[in-house]
Amino acid sequence: MFLDIHDLARQPIALDQTLPPGRIDFGEDVWQVERLEVHGWAELVEEEIRLRGSLRTTIEVPCARCLERTRLPVEVEFDLFYRPIQTISRNEEVEIKGEDLDIGFYHGDGLLLEEALREQILLSLPMKSICRTDCAGLCPQCGQNRNVGECGCGPARTDERWTPLARLKR
Ligand SMILES: [Zn+2]
Ligand SMILES: [Zn+2]
Repeated sequence: MFLDIHDLARQPIALDQTLPPGRIDFGEDVWQVERLEVHGWAELVEEEIRLRGSLRTTIEVPCARCLERTRLPVEVEFDLFYRPIQTISRNEEVEIKGEDLDIGFYHGDGLLLEEALREQILLSLPMKSICRTDCAGLCPQCGQNRNVGECGCGPARTDERWTPLARLKR
């Protein structure tokens, strides 16, 4: 959905959208697995586009330990401002980035809603997700998922490093 500043100049636009998985490309290792529901408003405030509302969906990312896909319910409330890029001088841009992270930019006649949603969803994801708190992860030696079963590799190699030292002590 393209939010055109000429339409927004006439009246605010309701953001009531349901986007099926696949509509937004999240890049590698992020999968939208349920529909994305968006509700809110887009309006023009002087020459800034303001997006206010909420979104909800379910995302899957690889577990940081075992790499299995892990479900994350995502709910975000947003109140965002986008400025036309051509009015920003270089110095000003640097200052804004430091003090107000909720300001974005748009080029030309407006902004693609999907772009803004994509960014909000990616920002909401934790740096690392694990499938469960007791995830055993992958074996560092053979790579087997240790949640599925023991691989028989025994203790990790770190033990071997200390063996000569233990001998010296004796
Ligand atoms: Zn895991
Ligand atoms: Zn192993």
